[in-house]
Amino acid sequence: MDKKQELISIVLPVYNEEQGIETTINTLENFAANQPQTFEFIFVDDGSTDKSVELISNQQAKHNNIRLVEFSRNFGHQLAITAGIRYTQGEAVVVMDADLQDPPAVIVDMIDKWHEGYDVVYGKRLSRNGESVFKKATAALFYRGLKRITNVNIPLDTGDFRLMDKQVVYQLRQMNEADPFVRGMVSWVGFKQTDVTYERQERIAGTSKYPLRKMIRLAMDGVTSFSSFPLQLANWLGTLSIIFSVGYLVTSLFTTMDTIHFAVFALFLMVGITLLTIGMLGAYLYRVFEASRKRPLYIVSKTVGFRTPQSQNSR
Ligand code: UDP
Ligand code: MG
Repeated sequence: MDKKQELISIVLPVYNEEQGIETTINTLENFAANQPQTFEFIFVDDGSTDKSVELISNQQAKHNNIRLVEFSRNFGHQLAITAGIRYTQGEAVVVMDADLQDPPAVIVDMIDKWHEGYDVVYGKRLSRNGESVFKKATAALFYRGLKRITNVNIPLDTGDFRLMDKQVVYQLRQMNEADPFVRGMVSWVGFKQTDVTYERQERIAGTSKYPLRKMIRLAMDGVTSFSSFPLQLANWLGTLSIIFSVGYLVTSLFTTMDTIHFAVFALFLMVGITLLTIGMLGAYLYRVFEASRKRPLYIVSKTVGFRTPQSQNSR
């Protein structure tokens, strides 16, 4: 296909990014103007309470390739991405942060790989500038842990910055998962996947919209939607504690131990293990509950800048 004819859709979830959004748009428009392909930018406003929407709308007057999907409230980063890719028209779709942490220049490398025949090109972070030691350490640990316990090959040190061919996007659109873990779903879909490496930049402005609470939720969604390991853990812990108690029974026949103390210790151990496994079961059960309710995944209150009328249904 003639490169000028190729349409690339960029999806950008936005949550209270008033401080940097104009710079992001200007940088992206400059980038797009220098590329052989045509670009469209799909901003998904995830219930921002600041001026983000107003600032994006103002830019729409200057650029006809900016589209805006507004959520009725904050539904979260993963659902904003899910919605965004459903509104894309491009031959390929790129998902990136609206804070320029993912450098636009990397998109050129991604497009090259896509032209080579890859269907998914994900951005692998070589380094993460401007992020706390705690965030880096927990993220590194999480990705490695997740890799061990899932049967889907979710790449290490990779966020949602990636390019996907339209056939991958088509498959994702069909998935309709409540509490989606998008990067895992993209791995699950398969096709030809590869990576490009990049240095993750500091945010241009504002602060991270991912507090610890949201990070833990994302991690839990990743685990519960791609692994049954925590459920099997109950078997292992149960087996271990049985072996342990039999061992204790045998040794107590030959020695004189302070049984009261030991009983208290054993009681706490058992209660701990039991509660932990019940909690884990609960997390899975909640997922089943969420999925069975058949609520819309998100609610769109408005779409602006699309050439054809858009359906606002999420299922
Ligand atoms: N974001 C969102 N909804 C949220 C939280 C974040 O749409 O509830 C957006 C945010 O505006 C940004 C992207 O998702 O464009 C990633 O969030 P952020 O940059 O805060 O995460 P970090 O890069 O710090 O992990
Ligand atoms: Mg960011």
